[in-house]
Amino acid sequence: MDEFELIGRYFARSGAARADVELGVGDDAALLRVPEGAELVAAVDTLVEGHHFPAGSDPRSIGHRALAVNLSDIAAMGASPAWATLALTLPQADAAWLDGFARGFGELASAHGVALVGGDTTAGPLTISVQILGHVPRGMALRRGGGKAGDVLAVTGTLGDAGAGLALATGALEAGVLEAKCFGAARELLRRFEYPTPRVEFGIAARGIASAAMDISDGLVGDLKKLAAAAGLGAAIDVQRLPMSRALQAAVDAERSLSWALGAGDDYELLIAVPPDRFDALAARAGQLNLRLTAIGELCRGNAVKWISHGAEFTPSVQGFDHFRRASTQITV
Ligand code: ADP
Ligand code: MG
Repeated sequence: MDEFELIGRYFARSGAARADVELGVGDDAALLRVPEGAELVAAVDTLVEGHHFPAGSDPRSIGHRALAVNLSDIAAMGASPAWATLALTLPQADAAWLDGFARGFGELASAHGVALVGGDTTAGPLTISVQILGHVPRGMALRRGGGKAGDVLAVTGTLGDAGAGLALATGALEAGVLEAKCFGAARELLRRFEYPTPRVEFGIAARGIASAAMDISDGLVGDLKKLAAAAGLGAAIDVQRLPMSRALQAAVDAERSLSWALGAGDDYELLIAVPPDRFDALAARAGQLNLRLTAIGELCRGNAVKWISHGAEFTPSVQGFDHFRRASTQITV
């Protein structure tokens, strides 16, 4: 299969068919119509084999995650996703691998109404870059730095599951041992790592209510620091309030689950700042989407981020994910 057959077979018609795509895959570039009164929202994220997913991962999961991590960035802006481009670097053109990858990518793209409108295909070590494009009504995007002192800090869903899922995927945590303790927990945690759910509908629902948002891709400890710093503020978090799934709590002891909830990346939940008098309205919108929204602390004056456990301040042993530093709890794949 040559490059052109490959593109034609797997990527020429992937995801949703959209009326605002004037020209998609096949020309030198795509032509896209942005709605009147909207701002174009653009983000790109790269997955490298052995860094962002273990070598030999299910290609369907890789396709899903490559798009999901980008949809999560769009969600964190309160924007509507519309188009994607895909730069794929492959060691070889393996039909079974491409079938799985294209399925994982295409299913999630269709579910969110995203059209794949272009890309690039090259040979080399397995690396996937997806650029996502979306739009938001002018002036309505949720920015990281919009929070005010006294705003409630809240997170969607549960934290730490994907950290446990990655440990299962790499064999650092044994699925058999876990299944004996809690039937279905290993499958659930692995699914949270392999098939993260970007909170796109919630991001759109939070527009006009939340004051700031970002997605938690590198772990709460590191990401919260960024949200607070962007607002020029500090924060206080009560770690007893961090939402953790039953599967995670069944999987490992309290210390381990807390360290994943604080420090593991890959959950792709949203971290939100919201004025206290609007928290209930936002939680109600989350509820309509069958999503948990949990208040975990608040933004404060100053620039210190304080972590509080049982009334006492402590220093988390985990740090945010940084590609150029190796934190002790990071699992190298
Ligand atoms: P060019 O050389 O002009 O960049 P290519 O030959 O690389 O074009 O690609 C041909 C067409 O196929 C372009 O429209 C490009 O956007 C699209 N394309 C290439 N690779 C991919 C891919 N992996 N997924 C989606 N579209 C792709
Ligand atoms: Mg090209």
